[in-house]
Amino acid sequence: MKELSLQTKENRIVYVNRQFTKVTGYSPEEVLGKNPSFLSSGLHDKKFYEVFWDILHQKGHWRGEIINRRKNGEIYTEWININKVIDENGVHTHYVALFSDVTESKAHEEKLRYLQTHDLLTDLPNRNFIIEALELAITRNKLTGKKFAVLFLDINRFKLINESIGHKAGDEILLHVSRRLKGNLSPEDILARVGSDEFLLLTEQANEVRDVLHVVEEIFRSFQEPITIMGKEHIITVSIGITLYPNDGSSAAVLLRNAETAMHRSQENANNTYQFFSPDMNVHAFERLSMEVNLRRALKEKEFFVQYQPKFTPDKKTIKGMEALLRWRNRELGIVSPNRFIPLAEETGLIHDIGSYVLLSACQQAMLVHKTFKIDLPVSVNVSAVQFNFKHSTSFIDTVKQVLQESGLQPALLEIELTESLFIQNPQAALEKMEGLKRLGVALSLDDFGTGFSSMSYLRDMPINTIKIDKSFINGLLQSEKNRSIVESIISLAHSLGMMVVAEGVEEKEQLTILTELNCDLIQGYLFSKPLDQQELMDLLKKDCQSL
Ligand code: C2E
Ligand code: CA
Ligand code: CA
Repeated sequence: MKELSLQTKENRIVYVNRQFTKVTGYSPEEVLGKNPSFLSSGLHDKKFYEVFWDILHQKGHWRGEIINRRKNGEIYTEWININKVIDENGVHTHYVALFSDVTESKAHEEKLRYLQTHDLLTDLPNRNFIIEALELAITRNKLTGKKFAVLFLDINRFKLINESIGHKAGDEILLHVSRRLKGNLSPEDILARVGSDEFLLLTEQANEVRDVLHVVEEIFRSFQEPITIMGKEHIITVSIGITLYPNDGSSAAVLLRNAETAMHRSQENANNTYQFFSPDMNVHAFERLSMEVNLRRALKEKEFFVQYQPKFTPDKKTIKGMEALLRWRNRELGIVSPNRFIPLAEETGLIHDIGSYVLLSACQQAMLVHKTFKIDLPVSVNVSAVQFNFKHSTSFIDTVKQVLQESGLQPALLEIELTESLFIQNPQAALEKMEGLKRLGVALSLDDFGTGFSSMSYLRDMPINTIKIDKSFINGLLQSEKNRSIVESIISLAHSLGMMVVAEGVEEKEQLTILTELNCDLIQGYLFSKPLDQQELMDLLKKDCQSL
């Protein structure tokens, strides 16, 4: 039932029904003869009522929502349908108003609208909301010429963090991140959470690139302090992709897509970097997508294979080991470098199956060498942080155990090449896992040494057998005395800790000469041998064994 009231044309109430009393709390005696304005909540301004009366006079009716106040002071919303009553002579005599109390449905509606437009964890606006806001900003730009920027932010390695500390703590991190981001906002800016670890910032304080850079700087600065969750500190870094309106897209959807593309590009570079969108990135984004599709097929289609690059003593007389290097032969793309597909494999989780494949192939190869030539030639396998930190049904250590069993290789002939990046998130956990591998009898080597954060104090604690000096230092050997002294100290430090040193990427005789002088233990690089196919390796070893 609806509330009904009848007013004279002077707007005096002459009749109300029982529902009116129920909703407003006023009895007929209290209201008859009065102007209904006593119901007013005070929440509509004068303009609202002016427009209301204008329309009612001109059109003869008005429909809409009015917020009123009950007798007990409570605010309520009603949907009102009010009509002029004209008598048979065409004279306006009364108004008749039908109301319904929509407060409750209104509350539901608002709640629903909130749910549809907000993220429940952080209470931030969500993707729907920001798309609307972007469309509004585009409209505003057409009127005022006001430019704006869209920043797409992604927390680096969040998946890994989430897996290693648990989802509850992961949520805590997200809350902290959203609070820090909010701390950088101007009142007009809009921050939204658009994916699990993805945020969007719409800022109209961005008439110049310089202004945007300022915002970016502030964001990076706010992440300098670690985030503490349950007494543990986490360094959080973000990657940012930026689009500017109107330069980088004419619709909300395009601006978002391009900002995301730019973000991915920035992520490929390093932590805490930003990247402005540029049109040629779309080509890359497309490439990436087709690459992902291809990559998913590659294992099934047996497109992967492993090459082996021997490591020699500096006099080139003896082969002391070999490194397994993954190769992907794709029908359309040809041979694809691991540098191009490993990051993608990590992101998509394919790295785990691919990694197991490499491990097994490498162990089987070392076993074949052992059986064929009666020599023990250790094989080393590259393992990325994502593989190493894998926290599901089978951990990385389990995988290694299985592979050793399946191939029958003695554990001492397998060496795992790790990088320092593994220690960034949780050094303690990484050390424990390394100890676990050592207990299996497997050897460990630290790859790309010198490029990471190279904390010498960690090095002391690590159960590492070998250090591989990064190619960039080897390249620099001939360029400056400083590089030579860096390499020299790496070698003596390693030796003092009882570790072996391998120089990688040795291409020139002069580099070899210096490395020999500096007492480097093993040499790997094109100067002695490129990575070899399985058969080429067997041929080389055969020659080697015959010459002994
Ligand atoms: P990395 O472990 O530093 O491997 C050495 C890279 O240098 C290899 O590139 C090798 O082919 C190349 N190289 C060796 N000697 C020379 C030289 O004298 N000059 C030059 N210019 N390059 C040389 P590759 O095979 O393209 O591998 C690139 C990176 O991909 C590797 O760097 C490694 O981090 C990663 N990777 C390779 N195989 C695997 C794998 O099975 N699993 C994982 N997770 N990563 C792998
Ligand atoms: Ca390596
Ligand atoms: Ca390396």
